[in-house]
Amino acid sequence: MKYDYLIVGSGLFGSVCAHELTKQGKKVLVIDKRGHIGGNIYTENNNGIQVHKYGAHIFHTNDKEIWDYVNSFVEFNRFTNAPLANYKGQLLNLPFNMNTFYQLWGTKTPEEAKAKIAEQRKEMDGIEPSNLEEQAISLVGRDIYEKLIKGYTEKQWGRDCKDLPAFIIRRLPVRFTYDNNYFSDNYQGVPKGGYTKLIEKMLVGVEVRLNIDFLKDKEYYKRVADNIIYTGPIDEYFDNKLGKLEYRSLEFKTRTIEQENYQGNAVINYTERDIPFTRIIEHKHFDHVTTNHTVVTEEYPSEWKEGDEPYYPINDERNMQLFKQYRELAKSENVIFGGRLSEYKYYDMHQVIRSALNKIAKLESTNDS
Ligand code: FAD
Ligand code: UDP
Repeated sequence: MKYDYLIVGSGLFGSVCAHELTKQGKKVLVIDKRGHIGGNIYTENNNGIQVHKYGAHIFHTNDKEIWDYVNSFVEFNRFTNAPLANYKGQLLNLPFNMNTFYQLWGTKTPEEAKAKIAEQRKEMDGIEPSNLEEQAISLVGRDIYEKLIKGYTEKQWGRDCKDLPAFIIRRLPVRFTYDNNYFSDNYQGVPKGGYTKLIEKMLVGVEVRLNIDFLKDKEYYKRVADNIIYTGPIDEYFDNKLGKLEYRSLEFKTRTIEQENYQGNAVINYTERDIPFTRIIEHKHFDHVTTNHTVVTEEYPSEWKEGDEPYYPINDERNMQLFKQYRELAKSENVIFGGRLSEYKYYDMHQVIRSALNKIAKLESTNDS
């Protein structure tokens, strides 16, 4: 049977493409090497609690079109991410805002907090930040860097903050208001009933085959469709022939506890170096569900090795050079590469959807001309 499109990967990128192409009347086959759909946004029901199997996922965007798009499949709740940081037993609010500054220094007004930060970041005067450490000190000063950033970041990335790109920390807002909302976007929430439902709705009417590794039978699968969209790691597609791109991986340790409420918040980060996990997620708080039990997950970062899931691309200079070479190779291949792993990009969900919709629009305009 011949398909118009074979889509490798049923994650968000692949599923948006599958939905849009099916809507255009194309015959689409989606394959995934995992035993479930959804890629990293997959959620699993544990007696009424939606467990985020591959780490906490909170949808946030400033793009109304993307917000309307996801809401056309499922209803979203009004969850607002307001994580706490635990540093040596002290609880501090995140992101860095007037609550954090008060807890650390006792400053009460924005003026007092700004004066404290100005004093704290003096060592960066006249220096243009060129790495994560310099960027962090220049944004919030040394105290916050030492207590809330350095340990967490070095655990998360397995590298010294001086060897990491500055942009990673620019994701976090610094606010002179008493506002613990982790994101500054206009729209935020979690799908009622979990992310798997969102993907299921996107894939209505699409043929999906699970537990199939495209790379193990590449030649066969290349023949089943006229076009291929590939959302796996770009280096794996080319048998790593130019070298291996580096990723960070994660190990999730999940427990069910016969207790109604374990930590009182969806996310608590552990920012000191000596605690091996970066955060504890209590899944029920994403949905505000009432159950007698709870499910919590500790997240342990690790260097990616054969057989692990590649979660985070490491966008340092060496890896970006290598990625650019793979991207050149990809140009001569009759395949569309997209998503977090193929574009080797630290993409959030809304950006993945935008990127998939753009790719499909481009295909449409090429087909029209
Ligand atoms: P993926 O979800 O990785 O999907 C790729 C799919 O391809 C997978 O299902 C994989 O099994 C399949 N595949 C790969 N190779 C093959 C092969 N050879 N054959 C067959 N199938 C294959 N974003 C947010 O907006 N908010 C958040 O709070 C947030 N939190 C995150 C937390 C963590 C821990 C992580 C890792 C990411 C987070 N993200 C978050 C980002 C979000 O997960 C991604 O943007 C999104 O899932 C990427 O979708 P994708 O389709 O590109 O990739
Ligand atoms: N970060 C930190 N301390 C924290 C939370 C985050 O230093 O308590 C840094 C860390 O380097 C992390 C980056 O900020 O990689 C971005 O954080 P975010 O929560 O956006 O990461 P993600 O959602 O991708 O895990």
